[in-house]
Amino acid sequence: MAVEAHRPADLQDKLLKLIEERRDELVELTRELIRFPTINPPGEAYQPCAEYIGRRLKAKGFEVEYVHAAGTPGDDARYPRINVVARREGGSPGPCVHFNSHIDVVQTGSGWTMDPFAAIVKDGKVFGRGACDMKGGMAASIIAVEALIDSHADFPGALEISGTVDEESGGYGGVHYLAERGWFSPPRVDHVIIPEPLNVDRVCIGHRGVWWTEIETRGRMAHGSMPFLGDCAIRHMHAFIERLERDLYPRLAERRTEMPVVPTGARHATLNINSIHGGQAEGAGYPAPCVADSCRVVLDRRLLIEEDMDGAKDEIRQLLEQLAKDRDGFRYSMRDIFEVRATMTDRDGPVARSTAAAIRRVLGRQPEFICSPGTYDQKHIDRIGKLRDCIAYGPGILDLAHQPDEYVVIDDMVNSAKVMALAAAALVFRTA
Ligand SMILES: [Zn+2]
Repeated sequence: MAVEAHRPADLQDKLLKLIEERRDELVELTRELIRFPTINPPGEAYQPCAEYIGRRLKAKGFEVEYVHAAGTPGDDARYPRINVVARREGGSPGPCVHFNSHIDVVQTGSGWTMDPFAAIVKDGKVFGRGACDMKGGMAASIIAVEALIDSHADFPGALEISGTVDEESGGYGGVHYLAERGWFSPPRVDHVIIPEPLNVDRVCIGHRGVWWTEIETRGRMAHGSMPFLGDCAIRHMHAFIERLERDLYPRLAERRTEMPVVPTGARHATLNINSIHGGQAEGAGYPAPCVADSCRVVLDRRLLIEEDMDGAKDEIRQLLEQLAKDRDGFRYSMRDIFEVRATMTDRDGPVARSTAAAIRRVLGRQPEFICSPGTYDQKHIDRIGKLRDCIAYGPGILDLAHQPDEYVVIDDMVNSAKVMALAAAALVFRTA
């Protein structure tokens, strides 16, 4: 009997029907989540948002835990970093499928034609800050998991939902903190889907790496009317940037990756000169005549999976060393700010394969496998949690993230909830 009821086709039909019936509930849940103004920084309304999610899931039979990431950046009495993790055990042992969403959103910025936290529904879309990135995705994953539980309460394994904080600022009070404490490692968790906005028919299997560094050139202060008595740090920096233009940029543009990164411009190694500061502080009033004794530049280097971190650092260091030989008075220092290795899971691994099959079933088209140009919380799950079977898949339209009048299309949310439910079912029942 039990085996009969779990025939994949029957289970799939039941799930699809159930989710279709819960379309309005999915929209309402998305609106409720948007109404919490979880702006980061500073980390507004994290606790009430986490508790809202926890209350809902507790009522559905989940075991709910709140994890306070005490002492992480920005955490204080006014803005506590509160994460919620909910787990529902099935009827027998088996794998655990985890859906992880960040609950923080970026600041609203200008250009909105409506209240960003009113969660207005119009033209088949839900509008609001976080609608696309990524409360629509979170709501879809909750509806998906609840549908699976309601249709097959005795499913094998376990299902987890987490709402984590601070993704937009590096994830240190969120997934990073939890991963360090074993929340994202086997045997607790086996497969992870992160419903980031990467479009309803695409499976994101990884992201490029990143290295941020600050480089300072030093000079000697003197009166601006007699610059020959000093040594201008800004001119030294200019010489360095010229070397980047001449030697490094052409080399980076030649490097091409096998990673399916979108947009395709990001299939090359890239370098952004993030900021530059030299001489007197900005806004210090009328400038005093001085020769700059310091100039600092911040570089944002994005790495392909074929590149190695030390190689990328050496490449820059060699340009600086060469200048120290070629150029009179050239002195510099280099400070690492942040680094993350590129990551890419196997497109034939269980979570990618089952999600792709579900997209084919729900949308009737071939899914696209992609990688993200920037990083997201997968880096912590892979590197710290040592869990490789992780993808990002969600309903939002990538280009709308962080924009004014951000929205999520209701049909996309419903379809992605169906895809997530079918994928999770295939993973726990091992029919993938
Ligand atoms: Zn996001």
